[in-house]
Amino acid sequence: MADPDVMDKLVSLAKRRGYVFQSSEIYGGTGSVWDYGPLGVELKRNIRESWWSRMVLQREDVEGMDSAILMNPKVWEASGHVEGFTDPLVECRTCKKRFRQDQLAQMACGRKPSQAPGEAESCELGEPRLFNLMFRTFMGPVQDDGHTVYLRPETAQGSYVNFLNVQQTARQKVPFGIAQIGKAFRNEITPGNFIFRTREFEQAEMQFFVKPDADDEWFDYWSAERMAWHRSLGIRPDRLRMHEHGPDELAHYAKKAVDVEYHFPFGWKELEGVHNRTDFDLARHQETSGKRLEYIDSGAGERFLPYVIETAVGVDRTLLAVLADAYVEEEVEGETRVLLKLHPRLAPMKAAVFPLVKKDGLPEIARGIVKDLRRAALPAFYDESGSIGRRYRRQDEAGTPWCVTVDGESAEDGTVTVRDRDSLDQVRVPAEGLVEWFRDRLAEADPAS
Ligand code: ATP
Repeated sequence: MADPDVMDKLVSLAKRRGYVFQSSEIYGGTGSVWDYGPLGVELKRNIRESWWSRMVLQREDVEGMDSAILMNPKVWEASGHVEGFTDPLVECRTCKKRFRQDQLAQMACGRKPSQAPGEAESCELGEPRLFNLMFRTFMGPVQDDGHTVYLRPETAQGSYVNFLNVQQTARQKVPFGIAQIGKAFRNEITPGNFIFRTREFEQAEMQFFVKPDADDEWFDYWSAERMAWHRSLGIRPDRLRMHEHGPDELAHYAKKAVDVEYHFPFGWKELEGVHNRTDFDLARHQETSGKRLEYIDSGAGERFLPYVIETAVGVDRTLLAVLADAYVEEEVEGETRVLLKLHPRLAPMKAAVFPLVKKDGLPEIARGIVKDLRRAALPAFYDESGSIGRRYRRQDEAGTPWCVTVDGESAEDGTVTVRDRDSLDQVRVPAEGLVEWFRDRLAEADPAS
């Protein structure tokens, strides 16, 4: 069941624990832009690294690159974005809000989605007009049409225009891919649902170049592979599904498309798109630039424009799915416990270390453990304030998988207690062996490797 209340709880937890803050909050915020706090930035980095490791580092047939946000404006003419990257905008004269015509269910003045535009008494709709979603600015000091540039709305075009640079310098043969993670900007008409739809966001995209007759086979391969990645993040399988686009949903460049969808608290929504873009983009760039972009297969003695299978996922949107999926409220001894059951590999902090009391040398032992763990690239947090129960609760909400308590026995025999966030089980472990102990647990919990 979709549960919109969970979103309010998540937004407030995200702020309370330092995951996500509203951008420019002291000035009343900015239209749908968010900042990542100390824990959020680590979670985001872990998601990015999981993608990069699986898509680039573990494969010989995908190369990474990082293209610039600003590009020659001809790129966006060739790609069709200047003309066609538009949404139909309608304005309601009653509530004065602007909506995407294809998302009228969200209208603020209470109009029901089943009613045809203009039917409701409370609502007066204007004529739809096409609104281009690209942000525009000027390159250099002269601010006129001749100096217009765009903030990229996707990373993909940077990979297409560098197709031959990457292929030749990395000495790749088709089939191979180009992967990028980077910021994208879209002047969305109706942003919302926290970090689900924003105007500045991050994408992790991979363009896989194949022989034109091998496109269906690779499309199926990448659809399955991408679903497997989402599952590897620990997201519950019953909240993930595939949705194939019908003919009326397909983008202008796509022959076939599937979305990986997640069951968010506000319903099933797209998390990632896998698209068969054919040779549309390379053909358009070849035509507009006048430069040949064909791949030369010297072995077979042929040249051709490859087809492209694209996988495109939002990093922020994945982070929201990961948070929403991890959010759990449960009853423990008559009290409600709120926890984030984050996959240990994604969790920003791997451990929190507490001295049971602030005396008898326990704080020093605990601080020593934090230092050792951090040196071993296991982020750990020291906390001596409040009762042990309160310290546990803070870490449960922050999603820290393990809490280490240093007590009187630790000073005598060098052992500490490790408490598991999910099972609440406690075990005694020698403090000296903690780094190995955590590494073993992380390796056990890591289905992606
Ligand atoms: P939508 O239909 O939701 O507008 P789209 O089909 O235009 O999305 P793509 O262009 O395929 O999306 O972008 C790939 C991915 O980038 C999406 O699946 C999503 O995860 C992410 N994404 C797209 N737009 C936004 C946005 N405004 N805010 C956050 N993430 C986004």
